[in-house]
This record gives sequence, structure tokens and C-alpha cells, in this order.
Amino acid sequence: MAAKSFDMIVIGAGPGGYVAAIRGAQLGLKVAIVEREHMGGICLNWGCIPTKALLRSSEVFHLMNHAKDYGLSAENVSYDLDAVVKRSRGVAKQLNSGIGHLMKKNKVTTFMGEATLPAKGKVSVKTDKGTEELTSKHIVIATGARARELPGLEADGDLVWTYKHALQPPRMPKKLLVIGSGAIGIEFASFYNTLGAETTVVEVMDRILPVEDAEISAFAKKSFQKQGMKIMEKAAVKQLDRGKGKVTAHIEVGGKVEKHDFDSVISAVGIVGNVEGLGLDGLGVKVDRTHIVTDEYCRTGVDGLYAIGDVAGAPWLAHKASHEGVMIAELIAGGKPHPVKPESIAGCTYCHPQVASVGMTEAKAKDAGYDIKVGRFPFIGNGKAIALGEPEGMVKTVFDAKTGELLGAHMVGAEVTEMIQGYVVGRTLETTEAELMETVFPHPTLSEMMHESVLDAYGRAIHI
Ligand SMILES: Cc1cc2nc3c(=O)[nH]c(=O)nc-3n(C[C@H](O)[C@H](O)[C@H](O)COP(=O)(O)OP(=O)(O)OC[C@H]3O[C@@H](n4cnc5c(N)ncnc54)[C@H](O)[C@@H]3O)c2cc1C
Repeated sequence: MAAKSFDMIVIGAGPGGYVAAIRGAQLGLKVAIVEREHMGGICLNWGCIPTKALLRSSEVFHLMNHAKDYGLSAENVSYDLDAVVKRSRGVAKQLNSGIGHLMKKNKVTTFMGEATLPAKGKVSVKTDKGTEELTSKHIVIATGARARELPGLEADGDLVWTYKHALQPPRMPKKLLVIGSGAIGIEFASFYNTLGAETTVVEVMDRILPVEDAEISAFAKKSFQKQGMKIMEKAAVKQLDRGKGKVTAHIEVGGKVEKHDFDSVISAVGIVGNVEGLGLDGLGVKVDRTHIVTDEYCRTGVDGLYAIGDVAGAPWLAHKASHEGVMIAELIAGGKPHPVKPESIAGCTYCHPQVASVGMTEAKAKDAGYDIKVGRFPFIGNGKAIALGEPEGMVKTVFDAKTGELLGAHMVGAEVTEMIQGYVVGRTLETTEAELMETVFPHPTLSEMMHESVLDAYGRAIHI
């Protein structure tokens, strides 16, 4: 059979790949997309979306348990874990089928099967019905990533889980160990802890949420501890002894090894890129610690071969993948897009309280040699936060004292994952403190704290 020819072939239909395909089609390219498992990738099926559906259930449960605080009553509040998980899977399914419709609407040809790269400009797809040969001058690798597994701590689906197991658990844990306190680990810890699991988080670094500003990490830690979570920092899980319905974890902390029993363990120690089996070696593509090495335009160094999203390295976020997808499609279509700036990509963690940030932490700004001004505003000083019954949290801003550039913004508290975007727009527009102070924020909103934090950096905050 003759090879089918396209202007652009995308491998992987996650938020990187499917967005690249749509943008390419919008720009008039004849586009094919290859997906081996599920449209929407990890994000829609096993990542961003189903976790947020679970967390919404735990948030409502939390509110129902605090009904009295709002002058309401809710007796015998309980949950049905199967129904909670069913809702989450339903949400993922709904969005997954939506991607299929978007491909059709944009006339993107979809191949369901495993792709390999037998030679430059060629893609071979193993489908249920046989092998399809495709050709294109432009091939975009968007194959994503999967959970990293540490030797001895591998998931078994029963006692030790990856995020996939944790999204459809075999049971409700009574005593849960979460290894790793990045966004994924902390979101699951928050979900299960809120539903009543006795939860311990072990983090090898000196603080939880280690990429966040130290003050925000400390705030979140206090809040989690208040909710009953046990946090072990500078601690490493060395061994898991798996018994009948029980795991004994050997945890090294302060130079000693402690043994603790759990009935369930979630391993959330990072991810590895899906680079195997594609034929990258044969093409001379550089791979560094499971991630494809690219330049600022996602080019691999092999003519006409690009890599975007999780497989191309940090930050491992859906919106980074999608933005790279748009950029690469525009580049292939002959445009002159701006490269994606990792330092302007916000990170969000949807635990309770939520955490969101963009740009440099205070420590990083200092290390980079900036003379800085720092503003802070607490949720307790905001009318809307009090009205919502969410008085816990803070908004912190870091400015370059010389130029007024907003170097970083860091928040913890209710709905901060929705608010961070305001600062992201500010950074994209290269806004300084002057425009942010000039901006009129609507009242009463949580966003007023973003204004106050900026004012505070310059000694002008009104409500503290
Ligand atoms: C539990 C969890 C929660 C998360 N929450 C968030 C969040 O709240 N916000 C956020 O921004 N990010 C979140 N992420 C990260 C987010 O899911 C990823 O950053 C995002 O999915 C990356 O998109 P991608 O397109 O690069 O890859 P993926 O989404 O991984 O998609 C890659 C696709 O390629 C396919 N594929 C791989 N190899 C081949 C091949 N050889 N042939 C054909 N197809 C192939 C795979 O089947 C997959 O569908 C979360 C991740 C996890 C695990």
C-alpha cells in the first residue's frame, strides 16, 4: 500500500499533540494524528481532569462537614467511594470523546495505533487492522510521560499505587503513605486525607512542595498538619515490605530508619518520558534522562522532527504542552511564533488550600542577584475570603526593586489556581508595579488581595 502523505504528523493525542493538530489544521495544513491508547492523553484521562473531579468531591464533603459554620445543617454526612470514582471517570470519558469530535471537525486524520519512526520523514503505525505507512516533512513527537518507579517501591496495584491506581482505588485507604510531595502527591494526599484516611507524606527534600516559595510551602504544611496530615521532610522511603493487606515502610529520617505500617501507598516520585520504542536512536535524536533534548522552538536537531510537552522536559504541565503545540504548528505553517517561556508558566496544585505560582521565588530572585521588594497580603484581610469562610491563605509578590518588574507571584488559599492567571497576563505584557497598582480590582473579590500584595511591596497596602 502506498504511504499516505501529510503536511504534519503528530504522534500522541495529549494536550500537546491534539492542540498542535488543531492549530495546524486551522492554518491550512493537512494533518494526521496518531494515538495508541486514548484521545486527550494523560491529562484528560489519568491526570489533570479526573484528579480535579475527585478533589471536587472531597471539597464538597469538607463543606458538608462544616455546614454548621454557614448556618446550615447536614446530618450523617458520608460518601460512596465507588460513586465518587465513577463521577471522575465519567468526567474524563466525556472530555475524551470531545477530542474525537474536535479532530473530525478540524478534518484531522486520526490513526489509532502505536507509532514508530523508521526513517526521517516517515511514521509507521501499527493498528488493529495492520500497519499504515505515513510520510511528512514535519513530524511532532508528543508522546508524553508516565509515572517514575523507584527500585523496590514499584507499584503493584494492590498495596502500592501509581496515580492511575489512586484514581480508581481498590479500596478506601485507612492508613495511607504518600511518597513524594510534588503537585501529584499532595493532591492525592489532600483528597484521601479529607475523606478520612490517616495520611503520611514523605518528602526527601527539606520541605513539601519543594518548587514553591519557602513561605508558601511552610504555610501549606501548617494547614495540612491542622487537617491531621503527618508530614515527614528530609526523609526517604528506603524499603517497602509487602505483607497481607499491610506494607511496612522503612523510612530514613535524621540518620535513623523508622518502620511504619500502612495499608496503602501512593508512589508519586516524578515521571519519565515515553521515548522508548520510537526509533529515536536510529535518527540521531538526543535524549537526556528520558526526555528529548530540544531548542527553544521544540526542534530536536533532526531536520523536520520536533518534540513538545512532557516528553520534551519540564515543566510537566498540560498548558505548557498545549502552548508548545500551538507554537510548533505555527512554525511549521511558516509563521514566526515566539518561543514558549518556561518562567512565565504558572504551576497550580489543587489541594486544600490550593497553591499557585508563577516566576521566581523570593530565594531564587535573591540568588539571581536581584535587589527585590516583596509584598504580602493575608486572606484574613479580605472581605470576600471572610464571607466565603476561607480566611486562610496569603498572596506574595516579588518585584525587581530597580525596574518594577514582577519577578514572581506565589499564593496559597481558596481559588488561587483561578487567580494566578492575572499575574501571568501581567508578566506577558511586561507590566510593572505601576500598572498593577493603577488597575481597579472589582469588590468584593479574592483578586483584591493580588492588588493589595502589590501595594504592600511598595508600603501602600490599605487593609493591613
Ligand atoms: C495525576 C496527575 C495529575 C495532573 N494534574 C495536572 C494539572 O492539574 N495541571 C497540569 O497542567 N498538568 C497536570 N498533570 C500533568 C499533565 O497531565 C501533563 O503535563 C500533560 O498530560 C502532558 O501532555 P502531553 O501531550 O505532553 O502528553 P500526554 O498527555 O502524556 O499524552 C501523550 C499521548 O501520547 C500517546 N503515545 C505515547 N507514545 C505513543 C506512540 N508511540 N504512538 C502513539 N501514541 C503514543 C499516549 O498514549 C498519550 O495519549 C497531571 C498529571 C498527573 C499524572
